[in-house]
Amino acid sequence: MPEIPELEHIARLLSDRLSGRPISNIDIQKPIVIRLPREDFEAGLLGAEFTSVERTGKFLLFHTNRDSVMAVNPMLTGRFQWTSGPHGKSKAHARTCFTLKFQNSEEDFGIRYIDERYLGKVYLVDADDLDRVPVLNEQGPDALDPSLDQEEFLKRLKRYRGQVKNALVNAKFIAGIGNAYSDEILFNAGIHPFTKISTLPDERRIELYEAIHETLNWAAEIAAREIDQQVDKKPRDFLNVHRKGGDPCPRCGSPISEVAPNRRVTSFCRTCQPS
Ligand SMILES: [Zn+2]
Repeated sequence: MPEIPELEHIARLLSDRLSGRPISNIDIQKPIVIRLPREDFEAGLLGAEFTSVERTGKFLLFHTNRDSVMAVNPMLTGRFQWTSGPHGKSKAHARTCFTLKFQNSEEDFGIRYIDERYLGKVYLVDADDLDRVPVLNEQGPDALDPSLDQEEFLKRLKRYRGQVKNALVNAKFIAGIGNAYSDEILFNAGIHPFTKISTLPDERRIELYEAIHETLNWAAEIAAREIDQQVDKKPRDFLNVHRKGGDPCPRCGSPISEVAPNRRVTSFCRTCQPS
């Protein structure tokens, strides 16, 4: 699933290219992802303009000039794709859910929302009603929110009893981190993913807080470079451990372990992350 490093760049790209252009056409192929009557979705967006696209947690919030917000929760497999690129019109993906076209000098300029598993959810609400959007209204502070300082992080962590990886991917704890970057953060912090939070001394909790910022900022820079203009791309090859089971650990050379409790792949180095 897309996480903070990719979504940061994608939000900026969408904001730059879509803002201030009236939506001229809406084509809905798979209404299941749209969590309101399709007529309301169409009427709400047709002729409107996005004024900015913002990321919070794993949500993308498309603010409009009608004081409304299209809130997109891409879940596991949702993503956007331009309808046309530098090489002309791009072929529509079979799992396209809806397409928005924009008035533009380029012909057919627009975005498609694609979802392999149709699990994503798209809402259109008044800007004042964002707290009615499911999941969004329950999420904790964004992992990169400046108000989530070390003190606040430690305070929030105290409320969690379970394994450290489970807390990192829990949006109610902090938002924007998923399976891939939780593995990377724990590798950088040298913490075993299944360690119980209650057993972590304060200095290791602080190391975890620092690893969150270091890892996400490091990855955001690389993801931005690799995605460039391709909003549908999710570069992950550069990661240190996630999905690198069997490969040598980049730090110590021993093989990276990969386990999948509850069908969620967790990758880590037993030498660098002993406990
Ligand atoms: Zn190692």
